[in-house]
Amino acid sequence: MSKQGTVSASDLGGLRPGSNDWKEQAQLQKHRAVKALQSSLRMYELNEKIKSTLDLTTRLLDIEKESELFSEAVKVLTSDDGMGFRDASLLVLEEDILHTACSTLERGKKIFPLDGDNRYAHWLAAAREPGEPGGGSGNELMVELRSRGRLLGLLEVVQHERENTLFAGLDSFLEWRRDMVSRIGEVIAMLIDNLRLNRELKRQSTVDVLTGVYNRSYFLQRVKDEVKRACRYDRPLSLVFIDIDKFKEINDEHGHLAGDSLLRELGSLFRRNIRNTDVIGRYGGDEFVWLLPETDLEMTSSAARKLISELTDCRFDLSGGGTPGAGVAVTVSLGAASLLPGEVEVESLLRRADEALYKAKNGGRNRLET
Ligand code: GH3
Ligand code: MG
Repeated sequence: MSKQGTVSASDLGGLRPGSNDWKEQAQLQKHRAVKALQSSLRMYELNEKIKSTLDLTTRLLDIEKESELFSEAVKVLTSDDGMGFRDASLLVLEEDILHTACSTLERGKKIFPLDGDNRYAHWLAAAREPGEPGGGSGNELMVELRSRGRLLGLLEVVQHERENTLFAGLDSFLEWRRDMVSRIGEVIAMLIDNLRLNRELKRQSTVDVLTGVYNRSYFLQRVKDEVKRACRYDRPLSLVFIDIDKFKEINDEHGHLAGDSLLRELGSLFRRNIRNTDVIGRYGGDEFVWLLPETDLEMTSSAARKLISELTDCRFDLSGGGTPGAGVAVTVSLGAASLLPGEVEVESLLRRADEALYKAKNGGRNRLET
């Protein structure tokens, strides 16, 4: 008798009705029909999967937050109308440690050092073609997340047992799936990279590179927005100009680089000493601006005096040698103004704060005027 599934057409020749041969052959035919049906079902399922997976992957392109990207990608990989994997995990590389960003696997451990004794580290260390997915034990598939040559993380999927049975031996499906996982890995890596680049670009366009506080144009936009908001809801709003006293002398005495370093240190001191809701910017040169939403002139004055006294205790090392104890005392002058009832002009608020600063300079510096 022929082996099931490998029967040739000639096997059907010379059959005698009523004989056992006939019954066997009839069963064989039935078996073939079932196989053919299963095969076309698989192909149908495969086509559907390709179509819906592509649709779902396209959705990832519109996402603007990394955390959202990770959870959507895991959904594409595990949903029945997507790739239909049993589990999926996305791990993100930060300072040589893989952190689980999103996972359907209930594993206690969430952090995997690249130089540690863990399966991800072992897998990454093993030589492979870049971008080629590989597996751990039979049901798992891993793929590196790489963009512009840099490793950003790792994607791991685990397939269902039922898929093993349904698609066993169907090489085109297995190939398609490996290929798809690696494509999705490429898309995710590219999107992570893009989101990070955009974030950095945005930061650079709003932040003053030297001092780390907001730049003038971003700050002025925020003032505009806050003035509008304060007028609409009849809320207090204040603004303070901060100018370093005799900064030119510091530059002349210690050099321009030391001056830069002082600007940098003052920028970080201001950032540390304002509230989360406040906005601090560099207006230009040695002049900073501080916006205090929901704050009247009295509260602003007390916050400004606190800043002056904070600075009184500071000594700045301008030698570049970092010698402890050796340091220069620096003072600032401040001019504050609050939005008046009915005042809608950003310019008039800025002008009044600037006039107050002028008064502070003329009054002997190291002081606040309003
Ligand atoms: P005052 O107390 O009246 O403010 O005296 P001042 O010396 O601080 O006078 P002014 O504010 O007019 O001088 C600002 C100086 O800041 C002049 C300029 O050379 C210097 N400066 C402006 N931008 C930078 C910078 O980015 N780095 C450094 N190191 N110096 C700068
Ligand atoms: Mg100055």
